[in-house]
Amino acid sequence: MKLGLEDVARAVLDRLGDMAGVGLSIDDPDIGNHLAGVWMEDPTYIMLNASRLNATPDRVVSVVLHEAMHIRQARLGQTSSTPGLEEVADCAAIELGATWTWYARDCSTWVDEVTALIPVTEL
Ligand SMILES: [Zn+2]
Repeated sequence: MKLGLEDVARAVLDRLGDMAGVGLSIDDPDIGNHLAGVWMEDPTYIMLNASRLNATPDRVVSVVLHEAMHIRQARLGQTSSTPGLEEVADCAAIELGATWTWYARDCSTWVDEVTALIPVTEL
């Protein structure tokens, strides 16, 4: 059996423990050409670009982890203008096992911010 994008994404979220109420919007009309996204003003769902992600299935877990970190950042009151938002999401995703990231450069800069996003039980 081959799992679809939504199945894989849901499995990643289930592993995190605090994402049960988070929806998945496959090919959301707002996604444009982005791989995936979260509106920081409405951290209740993750948008996924199915055609792009289905072409790069090895990135799906990493991308969903990154977006889940945006959900946590938003729950902490962070916004799209919070410094380091993208890099911190990548660095936290790496801590959780992501193998593909776009923004991460120097994660040693963001240790405190990353720590704030990951419960010790997930490390
Ligand atoms: Zn992002």
